[in-house]
Amino acid sequence: MDDSLNFDTLAVRSGTLRSDFGEHSEALFLTSSFVFASAAEAAERFAKSEDYYTYSRFTNPTVTMFQERLAALEGGEACMATASGMSAIMSVVMSALQAGDHLVSSQSLFGSTLGMFSQIFSRFGITTTFVDPTDLDAWKNAVRPETKMFFLETPSNPLTEIADIEAISKIARSANALFVVDNCFCSPALQQPLKLGADVVMHSATKFLDGQGRVLGGALVGSKQFIMEKVFPFVRSAGPTLSAFNAWILLKGMETLSLRVERQSANALEIARWLDQHPSVGRVFYPGLESHPQYEIAKRQQKAGGAIVSFELKGDTPEEMRANAWRVIDGTKICSITGNLGDTRTTITHPATTTHGRVTAEARAAAGITEGLIRLAVGLESARDIREDLARGL
Ligand SMILES: *Cc1c(COP(=O)(O)O)cnc(C)c1O
Repeated sequence: MDDSLNFDTLAVRSGTLRSDFGEHSEALFLTSSFVFASAAEAAERFAKSEDYYTYSRFTNPTVTMFQERLAALEGGEACMATASGMSAIMSVVMSALQAGDHLVSSQSLFGSTLGMFSQIFSRFGITTTFVDPTDLDAWKNAVRPETKMFFLETPSNPLTEIADIEAISKIARSANALFVVDNCFCSPALQQPLKLGADVVMHSATKFLDGQGRVLGGALVGSKQFIMEKVFPFVRSAGPTLSAFNAWILLKGMETLSLRVERQSANALEIARWLDQHPSVGRVFYPGLESHPQYEIAKRQQKAGGAIVSFELKGDTPEEMRANAWRVIDGTKICSITGNLGDTRTTITHPATTTHGRVTAEARAAAGITEGLIRLAVGLESARDIREDLARGL
């Protein structure tokens, strides 16, 4: 599709493969395989399985539409869809690295990502050095001759730390390392890491791309060469493939992405400002607040603050902080107590005992996740109703 078109046009017009029936809405191709006119045609198509439809572990037209639309929104040449965000992380590491390689990663990561790097890839000889994402010298100093990949999440989960994508991309480039950015929290509606120097954007499509809490999905976006020559052969063989049904749901979700994320960001800012003034609340972590330590970087690289607001309840001991946080969570009647985020409905979680519960206490402390911390993923309800919902337990 024409690259000069604007984001909102691409969100509804890119990635539309029309069949001979002339359907207006994207068709849902629920088929595991595709038929051929002859043995010779089957042989030809299997030989070039990236260009033809043969079997849905390799390619499927509904999944292709999702891939084209997300590539257009991220401003990337190509996209490979995966079954979940975690399988996108598995796929990028398995496609690009081998035993003996070294990875430099932000220490402020989604819990399962931290677990993959520290406990799973390490068993296959891929080691990781974790760094403070906001400390450029730490990234530089962690580089070794065998460093092959940089991995960053910004804003981070759950503390919304902002790392400077452009500055880190320069360090990655001089180290000859592939720079992968998890763009889950902002989505391309607010931030386009490839334009800031990242090599690969990774997504959990489960979050804002669906935006309605229905399906799991993931994706990698990058150069045509990397996606088709490295990632496609891995996904095709190993099979962490996105289902056509989920791709179809995600296509419809992406059509309203910018509308949702802009409104959710406005709601989040209103709630963050209110929490910031509340006497029971200690720190508020929101990139749209002037008090946020990386406010200037956020303003430069993001269109808005995003939907995630984290805040810490006061308390003299960890036990008291946890009790105070749980009281706020249990006092809500509107917010959903659930680990998902990016939904139209506001969700509330206690990271220390849920999303980051399996992480070791030391790793949790290093990531700054205390017992008093609550993560709110603001939805599309009235911000005033959400404020009143939180006020009950504060
Ligand atoms: C949810 C999430 C993931 C993992 O995605 P799944 O779709 O749950 O596998 C990775 N990174 C971030 C930042 C997330 O929020």
